Amino acid sequence: MPLLEVVNLEKRFGGIYAANNVNFEVNEHEILGLIGPNGAGKSTIMHLIIGLYKPTSGIIKFESKEIQHLSIHERIKRGIAVMFQHSRPLSRQTVLENIKLAILEDKFQLFFKKDVEEQAMQAAKKLGLETMAHKYPSELPFGEVRKMELAKALALNPKLLLLDEPFAGLSHLEVEEFSQLIKELKEEDFSIVLVDHNVKAVKNIVDRIVAIHAGKIIACGTPDEVIWQGKSIKHLKTADIVNLGIAFVPETRELFKYMSVEENLTLALQKLKKDEIKHRLEEVYSIFPRLSERKKQPASTLSGGEQQMLTIARALVQKPKMIVLDEPTLGLAPVVLEDISKALEYMYRQMNLTILLGEQNLYFALKHSDRVYLLEHGNLICDCTMDEFLERIGEKYLA
Ligand code: ADP
Ligand code: MG
Repeated sequence: MPLLEVVNLEKRFGGIYAANNVNFEVNEHEILGLIGPNGAGKSTIMHLIIGLYKPTSGIIKFESKEIQHLSIHERIKRGIAVMFQHSRPLSRQTVLENIKLAILEDKFQLFFKKDVEEQAMQAAKKLGLETMAHKYPSELPFGEVRKMELAKALALNPKLLLLDEPFAGLSHLEVEEFSQLIKELKEEDFSIVLVDHNVKAVKNIVDRIVAIHAGKIIACGTPDEVIWQGKSIKHLKTADIVNLGIAFVPETRELFKYMSVEENLTLALQKLKKDEIKHRLEEVYSIFPRLSERKKQPASTLSGGEQQMLTIARALVQKPKMIVLDEPTLGLAPVVLEDISKALEYMYRQMNLTILLGEQNLYFALKHSDRVYLLEHGNLICDCTMDEFLERIGEKYLA
């Protein structure tokens, strides 16, 4: 039985769906990574779970009971606590007082409740803050202020901890230390939702990942799974992956040299009706007229550019939903690049295809991409929109 269940959760701000039909669950003793780019709706979901926002519609269940109508304090009592994305420490209060005040529903209780001091100190100790307990937040390094924020949540003794971008603004070392802390908390039986904008930062800590984009869940699974339309495809055979609608255009082209253009194109279409085959061929010939003029020519006699067109056309006749292109521009002359460019444009605009372009020719990639993943030595060093990419690192790469 899951600890937390989110069912058809929706939150609209004016015309914007910050959460759009969101469904997920958090199991006991689990770290769930909630990832997505800026503005995806992650903080909104945290605020909905703790009760800072009222959902437009939907259900939130904690320990099988609906809580979406409860106040924040009632939810805290049931066992939910949040470490917020933005620290807002009380600057006139010490670290310990900050933690104490977080525990109390009514600030006047501070004068009456003795065990609050003990409870707050325990949380501070757990995070190694005991020597700083009587300092003021402004005297602490940023990393320690974030730990104080975590201590404020921990001191509430929750079952479920919601951590909203705990790594933001931390140095590499501090991230390591914080990750270790989060792992230890899991060992102590806390269930955790870890929010971050970057999969890489969380993939070694979390048990599962839910990815959201523009308020919608776009994928979920274990961190090393490849998810296609909500399902893992990691263990599928190539043929089954192709049947799901993913077509691959390999860098090495892999054409049947002695077969004609048309034979290469129709090889994988044998099961289709004649009319359908004819229709599909007409479409790719309209994209690549040069292939139409060379229907009967063996693939081996085509120029490099024409072979590349044939490789792409062979993927397109399968009517995929997504096409994966590995270095389609490799070794091609500028005129041919122009043809490939036009073809990509057609796939994107007329065929509504999703295109995953593996490319080292940045100028070519720039023309055709909405979003960029930048890889260096196997490490993902950037995941952003093309505009953000140009602003942040494009110049270095263009130079
Ligand atoms: P994330 O935490 O993933 O970066 P947020 O949940 O903060 O994203 O924001 C999701 C979307 O909802 C954004 O478009 C944001 O501008 C909008 N949004 C969030 N909170 C409010 C609010 N209180 N009023 C209006 N719009 C909001
Ligand atoms: Mg946020």
